[in-house]
Amino acid sequence: MQMPVPDPAVIARKARLVARLRQVLPDDAVIDDPGSLRVYECDALSAYRCPPLAAILPRTTAEVSAALRICWEEGTPVVPRGSGTSLAGGAMPTADCVILGVARMNAVIETDYGNRFIRVQSGRTNLSVSGAVEAEGFFYAPDPSSQLACAIAGNIAMNSGGAHCLKYGVTTNNLLGVTLVRMDGTVVTLGGPWGEPSGLDLLGVVCGSEGQLGVVTEAWLRILPKPEGARPVLIGFASNEVAGECVADIIKAGILPVAIEFMDRMLIRVCEDFAHAGYPDCEALLIIEVEGSDAEIDEQLAAIKTIARKHAPLALEEAADEAQAKRIWLGRKSAFSAIGKISDYMCLDGTIPVSSLPYVLRRIGELSQEHGLAVGNVFHAGDGNMHPLILYDANKPGDLETCERMGADILKLCVEVGGCLTGEHGVGIEKRDLMGVQFSPADMEAQMRVKDVFDPKWLLNPAKVFPLETSAARRAG
Ligand SMILES: Cc1cc2nc3c(=O)[nH]c(=O)nc-3n(C[C@H](O)[C@H](O)[C@H](O)COP(=O)(O)OP(=O)(O)OC[C@H]3O[C@@H](n4cnc5c(N)ncnc54)[C@H](O)[C@@H]3O)c2cc1C
Repeated sequence: MQMPVPDPAVIARKARLVARLRQVLPDDAVIDDPGSLRVYECDALSAYRCPPLAAILPRTTAEVSAALRICWEEGTPVVPRGSGTSLAGGAMPTADCVILGVARMNAVIETDYGNRFIRVQSGRTNLSVSGAVEAEGFFYAPDPSSQLACAIAGNIAMNSGGAHCLKYGVTTNNLLGVTLVRMDGTVVTLGGPWGEPSGLDLLGVVCGSEGQLGVVTEAWLRILPKPEGARPVLIGFASNEVAGECVADIIKAGILPVAIEFMDRMLIRVCEDFAHAGYPDCEALLIIEVEGSDAEIDEQLAAIKTIARKHAPLALEEAADEAQAKRIWLGRKSAFSAIGKISDYMCLDGTIPVSSLPYVLRRIGELSQEHGLAVGNVFHAGDGNMHPLILYDANKPGDLETCERMGADILKLCVEVGGCLTGEHGVGIEKRDLMGVQFSPADMEAQMRVKDVFDPKWLLNPAKVFPLETSAARRAG
């Protein structure tokens, strides 16, 4: 095979950039050899790959600021990266970019139990935030299933959710403030320990902005006292549609469990094999968790069971003990890894009104037949946040493209029933060309003008969120 001849201008530009970055960062914080850069060539949407020009791993806000200033002066794009667990390709590089990874910025800066907040560097993993306050009886509520690995930085950029967000809200509801470095190196503080006291709600703009507006280096997060107790119940049904109807009835009745999670037969099987949680043998399973004192738990579970019984459940079992409750959640939270053991897959993320669940689940089954690819369902049913997992064979020519077309059809279906393109995983590269399905040109223009203000040269996380041609034209000016 003939190797491509490297462009001397690109080599010279890279050498100058790397030399300048080494002037402001420690030597071990600048990576430019092709072998080491392969670590950064993709995120958890691993079907798409591209090695970056270089990667940097700063440790402080001042280092981030100095490095961004250099990239801004050099006209070099920068892709911020937390732990690289994005399922939407949000942290995927372009060939001409510098990856700015915050993994080494993982310190706890301040903890204030009286005022219920913690301030951390943004590279700290989600689970280790709860770990830092656990001994005092507190926790950080948003719990993405990737919480062992994903960073608060990525959570903020994607406005991430999780199984227990039905009651506590997603990242934006638990974020009090951030330190943000703009592309030109300017450091700004948005919000703070007591929330944004006045002025425009720029914290709300930054949360969910997918690394388009600045690099988050520190965050103030709300911490909550741990509940007295919690208990999950497993409810099995004869079909996906009936399970969907049960969820819709629980929500309609005004009951607010801490979590309502859904798994279909395929996922029940792979998760049971993984966690030995005691999931019942059925077509569709709901894991519903309530919390509070024993009396509160009993009262809520009684109301939920009354509704469930109207849908002829095949199983209705409370967790026998703490150990089983842990296995139930281990199985659910390991769903994406467990399915990865049996097939290549693409994980979608669309949101729908809960009342549409039965219809949408039936249509997903029909689309699976039409496209000839199997689909498994596991998702946050209580807030209508669907995660269809389309199974495909990466080694079979044309399968990935069929999977992409089927994914697009499912996401269009979500919008058609009044939902939206993403509930928590973000747009990234995966859904950028579907933005026009949900947003009018005027809607998108409004969003792009916000980016113009924060990042006038369009250097931050390019080729994401907005349709490829639109963002390329914007960047070219
Ligand atoms: C097995 C598995 C389970 C998952 N479960 C869930 C779930 O339950 N809920 C959920 O919401 N998501 C889930 N995800 C998706 C993913 O974990 C989340 O999107 C997570 O928030 C990404 O965090 P990260 O640190 O890995 O970010 P990355 O993947 O590194 O980056 C994600 C985005 O954030 C931007 N970014 C990163 N750092 C910064 C920064 N410092 N400043 C500005 N922008 C930045 C990136 O540019 C990119 O656009 C799951 C993923 C996997 C692999």
